[in-house]
Amino acid sequence: MTADHADHIDLADLADHADHADHADHADLAGRFRVLWDSIAPVGRDPGSGGYLRYAFTEPELALRDWFRAQAASRGMPVTADGNGNLFARWGHPAAGDAVLTGSHFDSVPHGGAYDGPLGIVSAFLAVDELRAAGAVPARPLVVAAFAEEEGARFGVPCLGSRLLTGALDPGRAAGLRDADGVSLAEALGDRPAGARPDLLGGFSCFVELHVEQGRALVERDAPVAVASAIWPHGRWRFDFLGEGNHAGTTLMADRRDPMLTYAFTVLAANKEARLRGAHATVGRVRVEPNATNAIPSKVTGWLDARAAEPDTLTGLVDAVRAKATERAGRDGTEVTLTEESATPLVAFDGGLGGRLAALLDAPVLPTGAGHDAGVLAGHLPTAMLFVRNPTGVSHSPAEAATDADCAAGVAALARVLEKLTCT
Ligand SMILES: [Zn+2]
Repeated sequence: MTADHADHIDLADLADHADHADHADHADLAGRFRVLWDSIAPVGRDPGSGGYLRYAFTEPELALRDWFRAQAASRGMPVTADGNGNLFARWGHPAAGDAVLTGSHFDSVPHGGAYDGPLGIVSAFLAVDELRAAGAVPARPLVVAAFAEEEGARFGVPCLGSRLLTGALDPGRAAGLRDADGVSLAEALGDRPAGARPDLLGGFSCFVELHVEQGRALVERDAPVAVASAIWPHGRWRFDFLGEGNHAGTTLMADRRDPMLTYAFTVLAANKEARLRGAHATVGRVRVEPNATNAIPSKVTGWLDARAAEPDTLTGLVDAVRAKATERAGRDGTEVTLTEESATPLVAFDGGLGGRLAALLDAPVLPTGAGHDAGVLAGHLPTAMLFVRNPTGVSHSPAEAATDADCAAGVAALARVLEKLTCT
């Protein structure tokens, strides 16, 4: 055996030992993740779809808030409620500023997946455990947040809690928002929302939200964790198509003014125009009047969700869909109007922070088409996001997934990031 060869074996051997230690740590962490994850897994799960019904301030989401308080208490972290439905559990001196904020949301879309939101909160508590086990002594407080109504599935305004906290949403207007049963936000909260809390927000130095990836970019890159670069500009537009309601059996085809045709054409046009631009367009919600099998509709309302990497691309997409809808309405003898219901500009996450985290973790950097509380807070604090690989790439559906090993990698990455931000 040559000396070279012996060196080679020794090094390989050492690497092998390190690998084993790494794997053992990783398996332990995956086990701890599974235990904590199982403690919330049944809450709000619909046995039929396997998806979750965790609407803000309903019984399952309130149970998760109790779980949050119990997890915080078991770690000696006092919890503050901000009067907007958001909860903050704190590790560190109550008077110390420059706190590092992490966390996410509990609420789901109807029949949503398990990971969107809760993964960021469960991972945050486990990251606290990792830091403590490693003997880390934070120089700055670490705060775990649970934000309210991020999906907007109950009151129609996404990122409701973070928008109220930052002052982006007027508390008077928010108080009057109503759910499908007519219950107002003020009734659900038990009080009028507090609105902007600069006193709380001013105590945070940065925010890092860990989230399941809502796409397959990490599968393609063969990496468990990424750092986010930006959130695409996006918005919701309502199309009102007006025609003439009439009898399905007696109205000659040539005499019809059928808004369903204009609607159908517009859905196809939105898909085509988005593909041409590398953008995203979805019509996932529609209302038909009178909604009868034997009647030509008098009115169809469709909601377009559109997103693109660049603001100009998004404007061009919506303009093109509007033009095609209007042109088609002329041929159908119908009328169409377009109303912008919400628009969120491009959010470029703090380049310095994201870059530092990507270098620290040696992780890929990805943009996302989904909105997050991190996007709202990015206007007020240096903000970053970590994404955990989702093998199906599917989100807002029971098919959303993440392996325990990848979730453990996410916790380990978050712990490293939080250690860097709180201890140095
Ligand atoms: Zn989410």
